[in-house]
Amino acid sequence: MADDCIFCKLASGAIPTDFLYEDEDVAAFRDISPRQPVHILIIPKAHIPSLADITPEHQALLGKICLVAKKLAAENGVAESGYRLLTNCGADSGQEVPHLHFHLIGGQYLGPFCS
Ligand code: AMP
Ligand code: ZN
Repeated sequence: MADDCIFCKLASGAIPTDFLYEDEDVAAFRDISPRQPVHILIIPKAHIPSLADITPEHQALLGKICLVAKKLAAENGVAESGYRLLTNCGADSGQEVPHLHFHLIGGQYLGPFCS
């Protein structure tokens, strides 16, 4: 856990939040500033700053995150209509929170991939 990391504090329960999913490795909660009708963040509980910091040891964790995304898409009504799973990595991506997280967004037509 990184002491100054907001997502570490959420994942550890130091800052209470409503988890949509939680296990020993992964947590998911709604984005505080949703940009789509469905906007969920899925994070590893371990402090990994970004995708640039993953190693082969994280392979199973990343696979689990994809399965959690699929489950949450179904539970939030977008499995059939479609959704997007994305992570921002580094300055040019606009990454704001330096703790690896995946945005699960959907609930309306998302349009072309990049803006
Ligand atoms: P990124 O730009 O990919 O780093 O996305 C960071 C996301 O975290 C943004 O969509 C923020 O709205 C969201 N966020 C920041 N603080 C919180 C928080 N305390 N709870 C939930 N979402 C947050
Ligand atoms: Zn962290």
